[in-house]
Amino acid sequence: MVVVDMATRIHPKVRVFTIDTGRLPEETHQMMETVRHRYGIPVEVVFPETSEVESMIASHGPNLFYREVALRKLCCHVRKVRPLERKLATLSAWVVGLRRSQTQSRAEIAKVESRDGVVKISPLADWSRQDVEDYIQRHDVPVHPLYAKGFPSIGCGPCTRATFDCEDERAGRWWWEQDTEKECGIHIAPNGQVIRQVDALLAEIRPAAS
Ligand code: SF4
Repeated sequence: MVVVDMATRIHPKVRVFTIDTGRLPEETHQMMETVRHRYGIPVEVVFPETSEVESMIASHGPNLFYREVALRKLCCHVRKVRPLERKLATLSAWVVGLRRSQTQSRAEIAKVESRDGVVKISPLADWSRQDVEDYIQRHDVPVHPLYAKGFPSIGCGPCTRATFDCEDERAGRWWWEQDTEKECGIHIAPNGQVIRQVDALLAEIRPAAS
């Protein structure tokens, strides 16, 4: 939300988009309404391909992500990565709120980088969590209802829990997984073994999806 607040101060009609994976908590939809009313801008919502979701669930069930890492990555790929890739193909640049202090896997993120001809800007890369909270207080930025309930990082409902103060900010994401990067594949490439497994699983669901 800090990035949205900053961007609307620079350009009141800035475009804001989000991905509705189909498994978001109700509070995230409330947040979309809050953004629309507070900033007077539409929120562009990108959805996964229906046929891919249907095929994945027919093959692996609705809660496949709890069974193994490769199936969780498949779900993230179908519900998040592919819709994002589709959206980014229409854009020349986008701005995100990633911070280096959120987790070890984000420690090296650059403020500006380019991939596949699309510039990705992370203006908060060197901000601490306290910097974020100070900005929110100073500018009365609306916060996600779950943030106040101990969710410092909020994703899909079944894959997110609240964290303890002593935990990493991303510890509540896919909390049942041990020793895996807490990323969905959008920001960090998964290790070779998992990516090969995901590729194979994708190939299985694609014939039905095409
Ligand atoms: S966070 Fe969970 S429900 Fe959401 S796309 Fe990833 S695995 Fe699927």
